Amino acid sequence: MLDLLALDFMRNALLAALLVGVAAPLVGIFLVQRRMSLIGDGIGHVALAGVGVGIFTGSSPVWTALVAAVVAAVVIELVQRLGRTSGDLALAVMFYGGIAAGVVIIARSPSGTPANLTGYLFGAINTVSRTDLVVFAVLSLVVILVTTTLRGRLFAVAQDEEYARATGLPVLGLNVLLAVLTAVTVVVSMRVIGLLLISALMILPNASGQFLGRSFRASLRWAVLIGLLTSVGGVVVSFYADTPSGGTIVLLAIAVFALAGLAGAVRTRLRRGQHAPAEEHDHVHWAECGHEAIPHGDHVDYLHDGHRHASHGDHWDEHSEHEHDPMHPHAQEEVARG
Ligand SMILES: [Zn+2]
Ligand SMILES: [Zn+2]
Ligand SMILES: [Zn+2]
Ligand SMILES: [Zn+2]
Repeated sequence: MLDLLALDFMRNALLAALLVGVAAPLVGIFLVQRRMSLIGDGIGHVALAGVGVGIFTGSSPVWTALVAAVVAAVVIELVQRLGRTSGDLALAVMFYGGIAAGVVIIARSPSGTPANLTGYLFGAINTVSRTDLVVFAVLSLVVILVTTTLRGRLFAVAQDEEYARATGLPVLGLNVLLAVLTAVTVVVSMRVIGLLLISALMILPNASGQFLGRSFRASLRWAVLIGLLTSVGGVVVSFYADTPSGGTIVLLAIAVFALAGLAGAVRTRLRRGQHAPAEEHDHVHWAECGHEAIPHGDHVDYLHDGHRHASHGDHWDEHSEHEHDPMHPHAQEEVARG
């Protein structure tokens, strides 16, 4: 590990991996909830056109990619309102147009070679420069800060737009903000993971986190930890194995996903019928609290942050439609409160 840190480009790559490893899952969790898991991939396609313009004009590809990605993200958010079929087609045209323009412009550029094209698409650790790193650090910190500060609001909108609108949240504004954060994350990932693979780092750690954590917050903590470890770990492995960093990171994230799925399955089996209090729960569910009520045997479960909670005396338990132990003494007070 020490010989790694002695190399200037490896220090840059590891730092960039660390930043994107934390930022990507923080943004990705809201995309997963909105069922827009692949949107980062589409933004990556369009960002390639921006990279092309940057290389062609001899300016920094990071900034031109950022402009292209942000524009793409906002357009995607607005186009989605067009309705299912036309919106879908508009996005397809945009994504293919972006990658086609990128490939053509880079090929015609004075300094354009196929080698640096693959570097942008799939990541290449030796390409992170000191200047990139400063830009990436600032952008990642903005992403981390904004997602952390607005987590509750972004979550409310991702979960149920109608309900969020009814409570007075600026739904369109928050959706556009999420789109811009996604675009920034895509660009920050460009050198290490690559434009075509970044979506995996937004989605896979969150998929793993949902197996391991029992609440939204716990799942997110797992996701960030896994994102960080796979991203930095992937860069280290790719250095020794002489493999492209992006592909290595994604394969590592898939391996962790498989392990987390296994751990989750084993734990569910062990906990079946056992007492599982809801983590960090200070919300009282009742008939009109806004969470969906699901009758479950002799009591009512409430759908809350993607979990089902049942009243149990002075606290709330985690429930699922599968686990139902008739011997578990549920208080009926939530029915009385309603
Ligand atoms: Zn509730
Ligand atoms: Zn229940
Ligand atoms: Zn709850
Ligand atoms: Zn309990």
